[in-house]
Amino acid sequence: MNHVVVVGAGLAGVRSLEALRAHGYDGRITLIGEERHRPYDRPPLSKAVLNREKEIDSTYVDLDLDALRIDWRQAVAAKGLRPGVVETTEGELPYDGLVIATGATPIRLRGEGRQYVLRTIDDALELRDRLAPGVRVAVIGAGWIGAEVTTAAARAGCDVVVVEAGPAPLSAALGGDAGAWTVPWYAEAGVELRLSTRVASVDHDGLTLADGSRIKADVVVTGVGVRPAIGWLSGSGIELADGVVTDEHLRTSLPGVVAVGDCAAWWSRRFARRLRVEHWDTALGAPDVAAAAILGEDAVYDPVPYFWSEQFGHMVQYAGHHAGPRAARRVLRGDPRTDAKWAICWLTGDDRLTAILTVDRPRDLVQGRRIVEAGRRLDARRLADPGTMLRDC
Ligand code: FAD
Repeated sequence: MNHVVVVGAGLAGVRSLEALRAHGYDGRITLIGEERHRPYDRPPLSKAVLNREKEIDSTYVDLDLDALRIDWRQAVAAKGLRPGVVETTEGELPYDGLVIATGATPIRLRGEGRQYVLRTIDDALELRDRLAPGVRVAVIGAGWIGAEVTTAAARAGCDVVVVEAGPAPLSAALGGDAGAWTVPWYAEAGVELRLSTRVASVDHDGLTLADGSRIKADVVVTGVGVRPAIGWLSGSGIELADGVVTDEHLRTSLPGVVAVGDCAAWWSRRFARRLRVEHWDTALGAPDVAAAAILGEDAVYDPVPYFWSEQFGHMVQYAGHHAGPRAARRVLRGDPRTDAKWAICWLTGDDRLTAILTVDRPRDLVQGRRIVEAGRRLDARRLADPGTMLRDC
């Protein structure tokens, strides 16, 4: 192996460079990324940066590209792929090994009006400039990004309305009504939340809803999810299905090509299904296995997925996977209607923890994540007592 190309200079891309060197690879590495910024972390964009608590410099990933001997092609995009060659906006780049780490791009809705999204440093700075007292902000989507943007806009004194197509906040992410207990947070922040409401179009002066009614807004933020950034791979012959399809080693259908981060749909041995997880911890952890796979080692990527969100003054954390038939029932720790801190545990039919969502209960999260990892059975009665340590259940 003489030359590895990494496409995408986000977290998963840069961790791949480090992992290749950590695994002893001494050959040439080229990093190409279409953004004009140095590699940075996205989570602070919707939190400390939008809230004006931190500046952009604080988001840059701590990385010495020279020490790693990386040929970094900044503001260069991959346009196509054929075996052994990446086609870029600056010509062709032959490779022996290829890491696909192109992340995801925000979905936009129909309409002629300006839609702010939040994915990049530039998005965050543009939106932040618009958040000021009295500005009417319409946020489409009460998912993770929508809730964090709403928190920042309300804190900045904006007049905020949130329009959510599902029956509860976070319903797309968590399924069902697990997010229903966060509804009061919106009212407490002085935000109007409209559930089960669909947007027909984004207009120059606000939104038109599916029922024909209108919401006037100065700023519209669309936070309805992302799509994997894989358009450049169409026609390459690589297997794609809501992301770049990989096996449990993160190897794609093309020899010498691996995929990591938000764009990768990997086979999870633990959950016996394909997962594509658009969260920071995956971008951080997967590259080590991907680098091993490129170098012919036999590592398996089999994490308990984890993420966090900071919204309305609460730390919300989740570990595991509960979609589909795996989660037979759920057990609450604490009463979300009256307790400030609570958790939802999803159990399998034989009382194994498959996922946990915690609100301001970080210890539950840490212990719960370990229990999901171990596949241990729990005593559901003890679990329902929030005073009992989760590890003792
Ligand atoms: P990205 O970070 O998207 O990086 C991909 C890079 O590839 C981008 O720079 C892109 O420009 C580049 N690229 C795309 N196409 C091409 C191409 N054709 N050629 C060259 N370059 C290309 N996760 C959490 O767990 N908790 C949080 O609180 C949290 N907060 C978040 C807040 C925001 C505002 C955002 C946007 C994300 C947040 N996330 C959070 C998710 C987390 O940041 C992502 O999962 C992570 O950034 C994924 O890393 P990645 O490297 O796979 O993709």
